[in-house]
Amino acid sequence: MSDDAILIAGGGLGGLAAALALGRQGRRVRVLEQTAEHGVIGYGIQLGPNVFPMFERLGIVDTVLAQSILPRACVLFDALTGEEVTRIPGEQVLRARFGHPYIVIHRVDLHGVLMDACKALANITLEPLTSVASFDQDDARVIVTTDDGRRIEGAALIGADGLRSVVRAKIVNDGEPKPIGYVAHRTILPFDRVPGGVQGDISALWIGPGFHLVHYPLRDSTLFNIVAVFRTGTFGAKGDLDFHAAEVERTYRTAHPVMKSLLSLMDLNRRWMIADRDPVRHWSEGRVTLLGDAAHAALQTFAQGACMAIEDAVTLAACVEQERDFAAAFHSYEKTRFVRTARIQLEGRSMWDGYHADGIERDVWLSRFHRSEREICECLAWLYEGIVRSGASAARKVAQ
Ligand SMILES: Cc1cc2nc3c(=O)[nH]c(=O)nc-3n(C[C@H](O)[C@H](O)[C@H](O)COP(=O)(O)OP(=O)(O)OC[C@H]3O[C@@H](n4cnc5c(N)ncnc54)[C@H](O)[C@@H]3O)c2cc1C
Repeated sequence: MSDDAILIAGGGLGGLAAALALGRQGRRVRVLEQTAEHGVIGYGIQLGPNVFPMFERLGIVDTVLAQSILPRACVLFDALTGEEVTRIPGEQVLRARFGHPYIVIHRVDLHGVLMDACKALANITLEPLTSVASFDQDDARVIVTTDDGRRIEGAALIGADGLRSVVRAKIVNDGEPKPIGYVAHRTILPFDRVPGGVQGDISALWIGPGFHLVHYPLRDSTLFNIVAVFRTGTFGAKGDLDFHAAEVERTYRTAHPVMKSLLSLMDLNRRWMIADRDPVRHWSEGRVTLLGDAAHAALQTFAQGACMAIEDAVTLAACVEQERDFAAAFHSYEKTRFVRTARIQLEGRSMWDGYHADGIERDVWLSRFHRSEREICECLAWLYEGIVRSGASAARKVAQ
């Protein structure tokens, strides 16, 4: 493989994790990020135990843990009655079963940890205000063209440029992501504004017909993260605050009073359209590949998009280390990753429907969660055991 720099389009969590994984091998890496400051916008993010073996390989376990919270429990609530459907203690059950914690962290803080680790390596360059417009490749190199007309050459290109990836458009060419008719509102509050009756030290998911709400603490429990997601025919429309507030009030009219008290504190100005993509078997072409949301964007059902991007990054670096050239490495990487990531996409869709079901279908779905802690853990084992323990070829590659 040539010693020219590997180019990464996108300095999100996946792009930076890939830069770090490759940089730690001594390779030259250039991260091309369209924004002025990498990762300044952010809310909370949940990370499953499966991401910790990746953090070990990236050398950032302690710095991540120093900025994280281990919620007392993960709790699923019935959004109509307020009853607890399932409660899984964080420390005694999840950590004990999977050997690593389940954490919540401010996205900006996780980004900061990855940025600092990248900046500490002289062979990684972070290049803001560099928006990738297109690329070409030949037998020896990749040439990226930026929006402002620059040409940047490298040995290979990794498209870590998110849901609307321009690199994907050229390789997979499957158009825009698929909206599913839902939107999300996100808010971070000072913790002392959390209303009475809300358990502030857990990671909570409230599910109701056509809507859900997630909340958990951040930054030493000084902040509180709330995400409200619901189905609406206006998902593609531009609305203002009054329009959004009226819609939220209508949608959550049957919700439990605790949920309503949280909704009343939310900033409803901005909303995100929820979308994913169909899984694909191949997302590489020669010396160009994809990673994270660019490769396999999923719904947020499992809260695993960032975890998958970071697993991708470590697996990709392991394949680059082991194969003779980039084309072989990228082929081996996508082959190793596509079943696991497609499962997140496909099961994520089916569970999404279950979470938001109505009537008898809802009763059936809720009954599926009436299981012991041990049984729930076993249902999640394929995911939370991670790629190192699973014995799959990915595991062997990453573990070597
Ligand atoms: C409401 C919500 C809640 C979520 N909660 C969780 C959770 O709890 N846990 C979890 O693991 N995941 C969660 N996710 C998913 C997670 O945020 C994504 O899967 C993850 O951020 C994907 O990382 P990425 O690096 O692939 O892409 P991104 O984070 O989207 O980063 C892409 C980067 O590329 C840059 N970029 C884009 N185009 C270009 C270009 N042309 N040139 C240069 N740069 C470019 C962007 O500016 C950005 O910095 C959530 C998502 C949503 C919407």
